[in-house]
Amino acid sequence: MTDKVTSGRRASGISNCMDYLHDPLLNKGTAFTESEREVLGLHGFLPPGVQTLEDQVLRVMENFNRKTSDLEKYIFLMALQDRNQTLFYRVIMDHLEAMMPIIYTPTVGLACQEYSHIFRRPKGVFFACKNKGRFSEILGKWPKRDVRIIVVTDGERILGLGDLGAAGMGIPIGKLSLYTACGGIHPSWCLPVTIDVGTNNVDLLHDPLYFGMRHPRIQGEAYDELMEEFIDAVQENFPGALIQFEDFGNTNAFRLLNKYRDRICTFNDDIQGTASVALAGLFSALRITGKKLIDQKIVFLGAGEAGTGIADLVVTAMTDEGLSPAEARERCWFVDSKGLVVRSREKLASHKLPYAHDHDYHPYFLDVVKALKPTAIIGASSQPGRFTGPVLAAMAELNERPIVLALSNPTSCSECTAKEAYVWTNGRAVFASGSPFEPVTLEGKTFEPGQGNNAYIFPGVGLGIISCGARHVINEMFLAAAQSLASQVSEADLHRGSIYPPLKQIRQVSLNIAVAVAEMSFEKGLATIPRPGDLTQFIRTKMYEPVYPVYA
Ligand code: NAD
Repeated sequence: MTDKVTSGRRASGISNCMDYLHDPLLNKGTAFTESEREVLGLHGFLPPGVQTLEDQVLRVMENFNRKTSDLEKYIFLMALQDRNQTLFYRVIMDHLEAMMPIIYTPTVGLACQEYSHIFRRPKGVFFACKNKGRFSEILGKWPKRDVRIIVVTDGERILGLGDLGAAGMGIPIGKLSLYTACGGIHPSWCLPVTIDVGTNNVDLLHDPLYFGMRHPRIQGEAYDELMEEFIDAVQENFPGALIQFEDFGNTNAFRLLNKYRDRICTFNDDIQGTASVALAGLFSALRITGKKLIDQKIVFLGAGEAGTGIADLVVTAMTDEGLSPAEARERCWFVDSKGLVVRSREKLASHKLPYAHDHDYHPYFLDVVKALKPTAIIGASSQPGRFTGPVLAAMAELNERPIVLALSNPTSCSECTAKEAYVWTNGRAVFASGSPFEPVTLEGKTFEPGQGNNAYIFPGVGLGIISCGARHVINEMFLAAAQSLASQVSEADLHRGSIYPPLKQIRQVSLNIAVAVAEMSFEKGLATIPRPGDLTQFIRTKMYEPVYPVYA
């Protein structure tokens, strides 16, 4: 979808020529043509030279490369997004591999930690508990009235960094930027939301510049009432909009997903999106190991949203391949902060119970690996270095090609580095990580590990859901997305050590995933539009391209 708008000032309802310079969706900066400057009354308010979008991209990249830290690059890009969205997305899409680690993990984590200090202009909507009773009124004032995707956080578990309160807003903003850049969702359809229920982060509460509510997190009924008000406010203002829950603490994440998944159009990316990208990685890894999914034994480090979300989808996939759910669950094991999750342990959280098997208890991961002999280990614990040398060596002893997914973010939380994974397994590990790692050369062979980042999944899933107006989001959509993603990994990708396709193919990848998800919606009767003859073309035409509007 391009913005070839033909709209004079009157037609677009804009009263002041300066609006064209100050509205980031309308602004073209030095790219306003002579005739547009004439029609819009912009002569004198811009440098006289007329430049192209390509010239502007060059200037942005020159400035970007001058910045000496990733945080400065992040601040620079956010300011660009505030000024000129077309240029921002052109830059992001043309240089995705360089930009992703800045606008998303790992730099976005640092940005959230510093958010109150680097704050310039507000983006998105903050619902603070002090505004209870006014959420619908606030949403009613949001200037864009065709919101289709909302990413919402309460800031309790930002990446692997813990409670960052209102400063978690960087995450919904970053995710929605990826929805647009990778999935072609129009920026005006996207709304980042933070629900500020306070924070238990003492450092933030004592930080004079912290801009959130300065009290401990509200909980229980009061918390649920706020969430309910938020959901209702969205239904009133943007009925049917997809709500993606992001970086909630795991107790609330599971609870809210179960409460709302059959009521509204919603999913939790940490649980379901991660599951899909990890399952896709497993499907690809199995092409290397030559084994079947149902023959895998997987040990997860970390039994939270990501880990148990992945296991739940693995179980769905294994049952799809003929196992009973109980047999499939027996192939998934968990180690949490207290050690191996076994039935004899007391007070296990409900999301862990399906994976609490009868077995001797072991407190240490290495002992678990030796006892259970897994074919794959998946890290989603936020505990750096827990895939130790001896753990990796044990995996290499047990398996010709051990599968090692170290998914925790940001890089500082990764369970092992790419280099550690390859060195300790003599280059035999099939490895992917949540945050990117540089290629590793070992005995003359270079490995380019893939990034098991759910950015491969959620933009396509979101595009598929909103394109067909799906009423609900079901787990089978994430299975379909995983199958689609895995099918797009080439032999050449596998050969260079990656179980994911190159990021530069992400638009096509997202389109294919969107088609698979929409197809599933039609099949399950969840779509609210008639099925178009050519579904791929139908979705492709909805995809945003960063092209300047033409003002005639
Ligand atoms: P969570 O808080 O729900 O779960 C964390 C789990 O780790 C808990 O079960 C906790 O008991 C366990 N844990 C803590 N200390 C441990 C220890 N010493 N040993 C073993 N387990 C321990 O968090 P989550 O949503 O599951 O996310 C976990 C990590 O996965 C985060 O770093 C997050 O950034 C990452 N993640 C990555 C992706 C991706 O795309 N790669 C997606 C989602 C989440």
